Amino acid sequence: MSVSKKITIAIDGYSSCGKSTLAKALAKQLNYIFIDTGAMYRAVALYAFEKKWINENSLNAIALIENLNEIELHFEINPNNGKPEIFLNHKNVESKIRSLEISNFVSKIASIKEVRSKLVSEQRKMGLNGGIVMDGRDIGSVVFPNAEVKFFITADPKIRAERRFKELSTSNSKITLLEIEKNLVERDLLDSTREESPLVKTEDSILIDNSLLTVDEQFELALRYVCKNLKKITNF
Ligand code: C5P
Repeated sequence: MSVSKKITIAIDGYSSCGKSTLAKALAKQLNYIFIDTGAMYRAVALYAFEKKWINENSLNAIALIENLNEIELHFEINPNNGKPEIFLNHKNVESKIRSLEISNFVSKIASIKEVRSKLVSEQRKMGLNGGIVMDGRDIGSVVFPNAEVKFFITADPKIRAERRFKELSTSNSKITLLEIEKNLVERDLLDSTREESPLVKTEDSILIDNSLLTVDEQFELALRYVCKNLKKITNF
């Protein structure tokens, strides 16, 4: 599919709803850039964790804020699978950031105003020329409020936990469904109630509840909507 005008597609929603799966598929179809902003927050959480500035009981936000300039993040495409992977200070941390440990800390890190300012400014630069599908929690509300297409994704928490369990239990046999469900519920609560850029559904976003949809069905639904909008906006 070739389209002259390149638009911005914002995908927000709850944890483990398949936002990145959808974003990746849309970006591939449209030949757009795909950015998983959750990976950026996870990489900052990993940095804080490795510096021992965060644990179950405490968070040294001051140390993290003072050292934000030391954090360099970028994505590189893995030539073996064509997927973008995140680098923290020039080290590939794609698999490290997906651990349950980092999932348990990331929402606390993401609630720090200075962390958000740094990442939002980097995300805006990445999307300067359009042609981007970005997924996260504040993309349609804060990062790109003027995005031409906005989706808000949700699904039943039990279904989300089961999907994530299937995914994670192949690499970690010790992980339990209960741990995953607890993490999802806690993150959703923190992300939706924080002061800085809480997760909200903007009025102009399209709600997709994918509890009963397959990955392909969700993709077809979203693509139809994108194409309808592209037709309206461009001569496509
Ligand atoms: O998308 P993912 O589940 O990997 O995101 C991890 C966490 O990063 C979220 O639970 C949220 O706390 C934070 N996040 C955010 N804003 C974004 C993307 C992610 O606050 N745009």
